[in-house]
Amino acid sequence: MSRAWLGLGGNIGDVPKALGKALQSLDAHEGIKVSVVSSLYRTPPWGKEDQPWFVNAGAEVETNLSPEMLLEACQQVERDGLRERKERWGPRTIDVDIIAFDGVEQIEQRLTLPHPHAHERPFVLSPLAEIAPDLPLVGSSISELAKAHADPRLQQVAGGQNWWRD
Ligand code: ATP
Ligand code: MG
Ligand code: MG
Repeated sequence: MSRAWLGLGGNIGDVPKALGKALQSLDAHEGIKVSVVSSLYRTPPWGKEDQPWFVNAGAEVETNLSPEMLLEACQQVERDGLRERKERWGPRTIDVDIIAFDGVEQIEQRLTLPHPHAHERPFVLSPLAEIAPDLPLVGSSISELAKAHADPRLQQVAGGQNWWRD
């Protein structure tokens, strides 16, 4: 079994519902167990700012899948969530990225690990700092990176870590 960390988000429609469904589907996959989920966060758009705020969360999963097969499962739940891909970093109902996968480092177009932008994105770092503060990423821990890139506009949504279960 390996552990992997996911970053989830969206800014169209009922995002908490879409993210909850995505996590439930991943957890129902025979090769994936969702072990811990962060609270939900409301976050300002990053990279392309003329669009609605996002809702984001982070999750830790245990899996016996390869990184590529885990990505395939994440993209399947995006398709189930009717993800439309139009412009890079533009509005979307759901995005599920692999932020890190136990000890795997690779730079490939299909799957780069750790995720190439994770270490500079408050909307990825703050949720993951809650559930994986000591996870190393580009030489620092998630909690150190989250502090270095803290964005005071981020709002933690009340409701704890079990919001995604029925
Ligand atoms: P970003 O990756 O900057 O967050 P995005 O999530 O909006 O942007 P997508 O359209 O979801 O981008 O994904 C584009 C491609 O990125 C996917 O088809 C996938 O093959 C590739 N990719 C590379 N590394 C990763 C990763 N760590 N997690 C998810 N997708 C990845
Ligand atoms: Mg993304
Ligand atoms: Mg993505």
